[in-house]
Amino acid sequence: MKQIIGQIPQNAIWIDNEWVFPESVETYEIINPSNGEVISTCVKTNSKYVDMAVASSHKAFHNPEWNHINPRERGRILYRLSEILERRKEEFAYIESLNNGKPLSEARSVDIPSAINMYEYYAGWTTKYGSEVIPVNGPYLNYTLRQPVGVVGAIIPWNFPFLMAAWKLAPALATGNTVILKPSEQTPLSALLLMECLKEAGLPKGVVNLVTGFGETGELITRHPLVNKIAFTGSRTVASKILHASAETNLKRVSLELGGKSPNIVFPDADIDKVVDAVFWGIYANKGEVCAAGSRLIIHKDIKDVVLDRLCNKAKKLKIGNPLDPDTQIGSLISRKQLERVESYAKSGIEQGARLVTGGKRVTNEPFDKGFFFEPTIFDNVTCDMKIAQEEIFGPVLAVIEFTSEEEAIQIANSTIYGLVSAVWTKDVSKALAIAEKINSGTVWINHYNNFDPASPFGGFNESGWGREMGFYALELYTEIKSIWVPISRSNRTL
Ligand code: NAP
Ligand code: MG
Repeated sequence: MKQIIGQIPQNAIWIDNEWVFPESVETYEIINPSNGEVISTCVKTNSKYVDMAVASSHKAFHNPEWNHINPRERGRILYRLSEILERRKEEFAYIESLNNGKPLSEARSVDIPSAINMYEYYAGWTTKYGSEVIPVNGPYLNYTLRQPVGVVGAIIPWNFPFLMAAWKLAPALATGNTVILKPSEQTPLSALLLMECLKEAGLPKGVVNLVTGFGETGELITRHPLVNKIAFTGSRTVASKILHASAETNLKRVSLELGGKSPNIVFPDADIDKVVDAVFWGIYANKGEVCAAGSRLIIHKDIKDVVLDRLCNKAKKLKIGNPLDPDTQIGSLISRKQLERVESYAKSGIEQGARLVTGGKRVTNEPFDKGFFFEPTIFDNVTCDMKIAQEEIFGPVLAVIEFTSEEEAIQIANSTIYGLVSAVWTKDVSKALAIAEKINSGTVWINHYNNFDPASPFGGFNESGWGREMGFYALELYTEIKSIWVPISRSNRTL
């Protein structure tokens, strides 16, 4: 597997289906977060090369080879891509684990198959969305066309690099847009490896271009007048900058998938075995670096102690290790900066009076001291005013908050600025459904956690985002609707 890294050119960006090696441009190192070693180098793409990428995407958007392509052929390209990725899934799982620090077992079972599924799913949509005829007053035929938005800037984070690329690329391409992809500065490798697969699948040149770099490169895309839309996943802070950039340039469309502080609400009649397992993996999967992490356990006081005890025992047994070891269950955080951020939240939990039940510090024994490992952590006696109850930590830290009444549980669940996902645990289905309606979140799981499907919409209430990705709903994000009117004489139309 090690030779895979050699297939990814260093200091290259992808324009017009070819590698381009920018001249006189600063470079930076890509780090293996589990041991601090340099695994590659990339360029900080500057305005000259961002302009080149945007010009290519703009031209490709107007090129009949793409613009007038039969929807069936567009679907075939996406389907071929899913087949190529299926063939190469082990390579992608390896690269994702190496670059991000996530356990190889998770990259194999979650990231890569879910991404492949996205391309396959949207391959089917190209031939299945169309026009609507609207029953307007008067002798007119009024119908709609759904047309691509244009050049899409896809700006994605480091926690699920390959999957987040798929969440943007699959619907954007299915609807006929062109895309400039800007992966996170830390995790560009799987996106770089993807580029030749897109070409092999038959995507015309310029339909997908890729630039690497830091936030400055992302900002150049967001401020470019020829970019029609930004599809973003990441932090609230950068989302705000993107909205300003849009407002100050060409009012480009913006869709946002931001963070969360998602609750698992557990009632005493819940199936405790299932609760323990789901709450556990809800916070420790991908080391807690998940927008949908179940970072708050809102639990009835009558069952808190028994659940907490079991969670704590499980956390102590979790196998921390080299992410590439197939037995590893929790890998390394993405960077020193993220490690320090998680550590500072753990400190604030203690300072603000929460009870540290387990974990709470970085892993310092060899060989983990060279990477960015943090212990699986649980805080009990958390109250809603604490930082660890309100802010997205993006690490393996669970905040346990106790409740006594249903109203209190709902009020606590709705007490943050976020609203991405939530879960309700009870055998009383009527109660669960009633609560599901009252929680402000884009997804509510009842008696399970972390289920996703390309067909089901995903996105946030409140400050967790704008718009819904996946399913039919993503077509809304990547198309403009045109209303066409035709007078029809001698009409007895009854539409
Ligand atoms: P971030 O700063 O929001 O980065 C996300 C993407 O935006 C990256 O590609 C980033 O490039 C780019 N970017 C940064 N500044 C930009 C700008 N001014 N204009 C356009 N693009 C810009 O997220 P982060 O620093 O990676 O993580 C910080 C926090 O964000 C995390 O601790 C977590 O709370 C949250 N987060 C949420 C999600 C999620 O799934 N919702 C994912 C990741 C992080 P660079 O990588 O080069 O900075
Ligand atoms: Mg950043």
